Amino acid sequence: MESFLYQNVPPPESLPEGTDYSGADPIAPFATYHKILLIEDNPGDVRLVELLLEESDLLNCRIINFGSLSEGMAALETDDDYSAVLLDLTLPDSRGFETLEKLVSRFPEANIIVMTGLADKSLGIKAVKAGAQDFLVKGDFSSDLLAKSLRYSIERNSIRKRLEETQRMAHIGSWEFDPRTRQFSASDEVYRIFGLTPHETVFTYPDLELADCPFHIFKLIQDEVMREHVPIKKDVEIKSGQHHLFMYIECRQNKDTENNLILTGIVQNVTERRQAEELRKARDVAEQSAKMKEQFIASISHEMRTPMNAIYGMSNLLSHTQLTDEQSSYIRSVKQSSEILLGIINDILEISTLQNGKIDFDYKDFDLHELLHNLVNVMQYKKSEKAITFDLQIDPTVPKILNGDKLRLNQILYNLVGNAIKFTDEGVVGIRVENQRATDERVRLKFNIQDTGIGIPEDKLEAIFDTFTRIRHKDRIYEGTGLGLSIVKSLVTQQGGTIGVDSEVGKGSQFFFYLSFGKGSTAPAEAVAESTDFESHLGRPIRLLLVEDHKMNQLVAKKTLERQWGDISVTIANNGQEAVDILREQTFDIILMDLQMPVMDGYETTAYIRKEMPPDIAAIPILAMTAHANISKDEQFKSFGMNDFVLKPFEPKQLFSKIIQYIKKSDGL
Ligand code: ADP
Repeated sequence: MESFLYQNVPPPESLPEGTDYSGADPIAPFATYHKILLIEDNPGDVRLVELLLEESDLLNCRIINFGSLSEGMAALETDDDYSAVLLDLTLPDSRGFETLEKLVSRFPEANIIVMTGLADKSLGIKAVKAGAQDFLVKGDFSSDLLAKSLRYSIERNSIRKRLEETQRMAHIGSWEFDPRTRQFSASDEVYRIFGLTPHETVFTYPDLELADCPFHIFKLIQDEVMREHVPIKKDVEIKSGQHHLFMYIECRQNKDTENNLILTGIVQNVTERRQAEELRKARDVAEQSAKMKEQFIASISHEMRTPMNAIYGMSNLLSHTQLTDEQSSYIRSVKQSSEILLGIINDILEISTLQNGKIDFDYKDFDLHELLHNLVNVMQYKKSEKAITFDLQIDPTVPKILNGDKLRLNQILYNLVGNAIKFTDEGVVGIRVENQRATDERVRLKFNIQDTGIGIPEDKLEAIFDTFTRIRHKDRIYEGTGLGLSIVKSLVTQQGGTIGVDSEVGKGSQFFFYLSFGKGSTAPAEAVAESTDFESHLGRPIRLLLVEDHKMNQLVAKKTLERQWGDISVTIANNGQEAVDILREQTFDIILMDLQMPVMDGYETTAYIRKEMPPDIAAIPILAMTAHANISKDEQFKSFGMNDFVLKPFEPKQLFSKIIQYIKKSDGL
C-alpha cells in the first residue's frame, strides 16, 4: 500500500538573501527556478541581460540562451516550461517583425518579451499588438525594468499553468481567435479532448480552414458568431478515427485590452455524460416496459377473474340441483378446474404486486396456535387420497399470542405445506415451530416444514425460489405454475426474514424460514365465526341490497343466497349511484358491496352512505366483497366504514355466517 507523507517546508522566500540558485541542481531542495529563454545572437547583449538579472532582486531565474530563431523554437518545442522568452528581432535566420510572427503563431501561449534597438522603438508597440507580452529597448532598460517584465511573465505563466490544470481536471478546454491578426490558439486540454497530444500537433488559423482538420468546427462556429453577433452554444458530435466524441462548444465575442473584438470559446467533452444519459434513457425505457408488462398482466388477470368467479359460482349452484351421478362428477371437475385456474390468476396478480415491493403488511395480535391448527384442518382435504399423516409440533416456549401479519403467515405456510403434500405420496408432513431468540418484546421463530416426498436435486435447490421454476419429472406431471415459492420468498424477505431448503432426492425435503414477531399483549380481536356450525336462521325475512356491476356475479350471489334462505329478498343495484337511489326508497337489513364498480365505486358509496344519509340508513351493516388477491390492497375497507369483508368467489358458508352475524349485531341480539 502506498502512503504519503506531507511535510511543511519553508517557502523559498525564507531563504537567506542573496543566495544564487542559477545553475543549481534541479532536484536540490527549493530548486524551483524559473527558466527564461533568451533568443539572442549577440554575446555582448547576452552578457548584459545576465548581469542585469544578477543585479535584480529576481533570485530564482535561470537564463538559457540560443543564438537563432530555429534553435529557440526547437527548445520551446521540447520543453514548454519556459516562464518567458526574451526575443531579439534581428537574428541570423530571421529578421524584423516576421521573427515575432513566426514565434507567436507557433507558440501562442508563450510570454514573449521583444527586445528592440533604440532606433526602432515603434516596433515594440507593434509587437505588443501582435501578441508579444512586453518590449524592452536595448541600451535603455535597467535591471528593475527587466525584473518587472520578467516577474509579470512568471506570474502570467503560473496563472496559465493553474488554468491548464483546472481545465484538465474539468475536461474543459478554452480557445481564442483574434479576427484582426487571424491568430487562433487553443489550450492543451482542447487538444487532449480531440485525442491529440498537445505540442506534438499545433493547429494555426490556416489549418482550421481545411475541412478535414479536426478543429474545422471552430472555424464554422467563429464564422457564425461573426455573422450573427450573438453567442453560440452547440452540442457537436465528432467522429474521427476511433474517437467518437460528443462535445459542448460555446463561443462569444469579447473585447481585449485594446478594445478590439476577439472570439473566446470553450469546449467540453460531454461523451461520458451523454453515455450516462443514454444509459439512463435505456433504463427508463426498460422500467417503463416492465411496468407496462405488469399492468398488462394485472389487468388481464383481473379480467379473467371476474368470469372465473361466475363459472365457479354457477357450478357451485348447479351441484346443489338434482343431478345424475355422471352430471355430478362433471360438475366436480368443472369446480376443481376453476379453483385451480383462480389460484393461478391470483398468484400472477400477487407476484406482480410483490415484485413492485408494494405489499403493506398488516401487523396485529393473533393466536399462532389457532392459526396452525386451522391450517392443519384445512389441509386435511388436500391429502385425503394419500397415505400422509401430519405432525404438528410447537415448542412450548413459543408465545401463543403474537403480533404480526397473520394473513401473510398463513399464506406462506399454506404454500409450503401444500407443496409438501403435493410432492409426497406417503409418509409424514411435519410442521415444527421453534423459538430461536427472544427479548422482552420480540421473538424470532423458526418454522420447519418437512416431508418424505420425492425431494429436489441439489443443483435445482437455488432456482426453485425463482419465478416460474418447476422441476421436470420423467414419470409424473405435477400441476403448478412455479410461482408459489417465489411468492413465499418475497413474503418472508420483505418482512425481514430468511428462507432456505434442504433436500435429498427420494428421501424428502425440508423448507425452513425465520421470521420475527412482536409478543402480543392483548387477546386477538374476536375471530369472525369461520366454523361450519353457524346459526343459519334469523327467524325473520332478510332484506339484502346487493351492489355489484357484473351480471353473472349478481346472479351467482342472488341464487346462492336464495337457495340458502327461502325468505330472503335480494335487491340489485348495478353501481353505487343506483344503490344510493334505492336506499332512499327502501329499507334493508344488510348491504353486500362490490369494491370496483363504474360510476361510483364501493369505497365512495360506503363513505357517502355513512356520512350523508339519514342515521337509520347510515347504520346498515355493509360487507365488502373482494377477491382474494386484493385483500391486502382493499384492506382500507374499514377506514371507509365497511364492517367486514367476504371473499369472492364466495365460500357460501362464510358468506351466510357473516350475514347472520352482522344482522344479529344490528338487531341488538
Ligand atoms: P409450483 O406451483 O409449481 O409448486 P413452487 O414455486 O411452489 O411452484 O415450487 C417450484 C418447484 O419446486 C416445484 O414445481 C417443484 O418442482 C419444487 N418443489 C417445491 N416444493 C417441493 C417439495 N416439498 N418437494 C419436492 N419438490 C418441491
